[in-house]
Amino acid sequence: MKLHLGAQLAFHSCIGATAISPELYDAVIVGGGPAGFVLASRLSENPNFKVLLLENGPDTYTNETITTPRYAGGLRGTQYSWNFTSIPQATLNGVAPYLHQGNGFGGGTAINYMVYCRGASSVFDEWADLSGLDGLRWENLVNDFKKSTNLFVPSDRDYEQIIDTTTFGDDHVNVSYESTGQRVPIDDSFVNTWITNGAKDADLTSGDGIGMMVGGGCSINPVNATRSYALPAYGFQLAGRPNVQLLHDSRVIKINFEGTKAIGVDYVDLSTSNTYTIRSKETIVSAGAVSSPRLLLLSGVGPKDHLEELGIPVVVDSPEVGLNFFDHHYTIMMFNATPDIVTAKQLDDPALLAPFLAEYQANATGPLSSVGASSFFAERLSDEVLDSLGVNVTFPKSLPKDRPHLLYEYASAGMLPTPDNSNAVSAFAALIQPEASGSVRLNTSDWRDEPLLDPNYFGSESDMAIALYGYKRILAMMRSDTMRSVNVNEIYPGSNVTSDADIKATQISKPR
Ligand SMILES: Cc1cc2nc3c(=O)[nH]c(=O)nc-3n(C[C@H](O)[C@H](O)[C@H](O)COP(=O)(O)OP(=O)(O)OC[C@H]3O[C@@H](n4cnc5c(N)ncnc54)[C@H](O)[C@@H]3O)c2cc1C
Repeated sequence: MKLHLGAQLAFHSCIGATAISPELYDAVIVGGGPAGFVLASRLSENPNFKVLLLENGPDTYTNETITTPRYAGGLRGTQYSWNFTSIPQATLNGVAPYLHQGNGFGGGTAINYMVYCRGASSVFDEWADLSGLDGLRWENLVNDFKKSTNLFVPSDRDYEQIIDTTTFGDDHVNVSYESTGQRVPIDDSFVNTWITNGAKDADLTSGDGIGMMVGGGCSINPVNATRSYALPAYGFQLAGRPNVQLLHDSRVIKINFEGTKAIGVDYVDLSTSNTYTIRSKETIVSAGAVSSPRLLLLSGVGPKDHLEELGIPVVVDSPEVGLNFFDHHYTIMMFNATPDIVTAKQLDDPALLAPFLAEYQANATGPLSSVGASSFFAERLSDEVLDSLGVNVTFPKSLPKDRPHLLYEYASAGMLPTPDNSNAVSAFAALIQPEASGSVRLNTSDWRDEPLLDPNYFGSESDMAIALYGYKRILAMMRSDTMRSVNVNEIYPGSNVTSDADIKATQISKPR
């Protein structure tokens, strides 16, 4: 299946040769994720403004592994992820989990799970207060969310879901809900389990942060059931603009400064290993949560002590660079699902995959047309539950009342090593707003060396207690009578694991 072929071909006319002659750009953008592509698109609307976007990873535009929603789970571990590993986590008994970040045109939006939600309004209001930028306030930003998206709700949906259509417009990011045929057969059981245990339906695209989302929304183009990500949403708009150039396989290794003013970058063409210097009036770093601070540190912007220790000349002593690193680590259980649930294991079998592929290619329907996980629940724990955890819960209690503490989801795939002949489904819980944060640090001054990533998972006593509460809760739900019709038997941690001590032990030492 090809998407928007005309737009793709035109788009490719603005991908320059890998080596370009040095000239003065108005803006050089580091990183071709959603932030980078949106900036390239907006800045190059002015035909006199010369923009260069440099992306470390490959071009992604013809890749059906990326565009086919159901293949999302298989993209980690490929060239489309940086495949980072965190440093061993003391709180996880020394386990060092993988830490994935998108690599290639589209960045994270090329490999993510396409779940589209916007978060609690108080998050944006907090950003506005912190930054002094009123445009970040929810009541203002919602207009930009609206401007950037369009919404599709199928007429044949057979599930309840509140959908506020007023916060969507008619722009390029597709947000769609699943039709009846796309929903995973397990979904009714999953949703009913939570609803009978206190979950409420909510629209988490409308400023609400707490509740159950059913049937999406997903950033999937409903016309051809392909991933709607930064490349088609914003990259294709660049077609025919001679003032913008995009280079893939181009790693920015250093921001150059005159005094403390950024004057451009050095980048390496990864296909030839040649290094080029780009001069630019503005240098925009949109390289993601790991690589933005990493590049700043490599360029001499960061904590003086850390830079001096590595022999990097200090341009600006900025102690915050690389701090406040957050990630949501999953606590995972897995069970064998009934054979009618199409899992990754089945799709790995060419004979079983063939009819699904044929259906998808012919009609853009069937299991490949959706991500294989239709619903999720964001829960706020009551003060009574928090108090019952027996640890200091000042932080989780202090969060604005529209913030959830835990997220519960499932995937039609094994997320841990999976035994042969199992039809594994994973259900998992994540801390949505951890108290403890970690850091991004350099190991050496060489841009090729892996950074030291410490996400500090479950790094406060309330984080650990809430994570374990969430894990026990998802175990209880997946072991409940409502799930029994789809849950054949438990693969991990195993139905014999029931005591608090055993549950904790399986989660803090679980395989990666
Ligand atoms: C596995 C996974 C699943 C996710 N699931 C969801 C989901 O379901 N829903 C959701 O809303 N969000 C999800 N996310 C998060 C979402 O994708 C990110 O929040 C988003 O992509 C961040 O955008 P960004 O532009 O800031 O950074 P990124 O998307 O990380 O883009 C940064 C880009 O910069 C490039 N880059 C880095 N360093 C350099 C360098 N030195 N030189 C040149 N280029 C460089 C990178 O290769 C990358 O392409 C997921 C993320 C991952 C990794």
